[in-house]
Amino acid sequence: MADTVLAARYAAADQMSGGHGILAVAEAALAAHRVFDRVWARAFPQVDAVGAIACKAGCGWCCHQHVAILPAEAVAIARAIDGTKLAERFDGLAPAILGKSNAQRKAEKRACPFLIDGACAVYEVRPNRCRATHSRDLDFCIARYELGHSPATKPAKSIPLEPALIGDQVLKGLGQALVAAGLDATPVELTHAIAALRRDPDLADDYAKGRIFPAGAQAPEDPQSDTAPLA
Ligand code: SF4
Repeated sequence: MADTVLAARYAAADQMSGGHGILAVAEAALAAHRVFDRVWARAFPQVDAVGAIACKAGCGWCCHQHVAILPAEAVAIARAIDGTKLAERFDGLAPAILGKSNAQRKAEKRACPFLIDGACAVYEVRPNRCRATHSRDLDFCIARYELGHSPATKPAKSIPLEPALIGDQVLKGLGQALVAAGLDATPVELTHAIAALRRDPDLADDYAKGRIFPAGAQAPEDPQSDTAPLA
């Protein structure tokens, strides 16, 4: 696992070795994502053999909650959607999520603005936490969506730990690379962070120059938090 931290750190740092403008910061996040994809692809057969992974395109039950990401991941997504219809769609849907805690959002069943017909419209640049969330049990995911929290009868093997652990290591490595480059690595929330970037056209550039993301890029905290893989 320490290897994964280092692999993500150096893959991200490589992208910023010639300076860290918006493009380099976005590429740093994507380089760390590729490390996740590589390590998870190696681990997948063993994890799947213990209990088949149920996740597939068209299934987005887990995409109705806040997602903790790093600012560089937000920059990568905002850059990818800039000038597209997806950005307009995001601008229309995000206000119903902004300013809400994770519990409020789950109670209202507000889907991620990038979820279209059960599929992720930013799949190639989706955040690390989304990559790291897997389930072996569709019924468990639906029950968690319906209840707004994990069912008390959660079967022990419904959610495999391995991808979440790999994801944590990759985020750690990416965070280390950002800090080493003098950039903010404080976690932000996906919808709130993208909205902050779209509200302030200078934010991505300023972030790449060392500015801290505004407080509005984080979601209000829940009084009690359901510690789902995406929290
Ligand atoms: S970014 Fe994609 S995978 Fe992540 S919550 Fe949104 S729709 Fe789901």
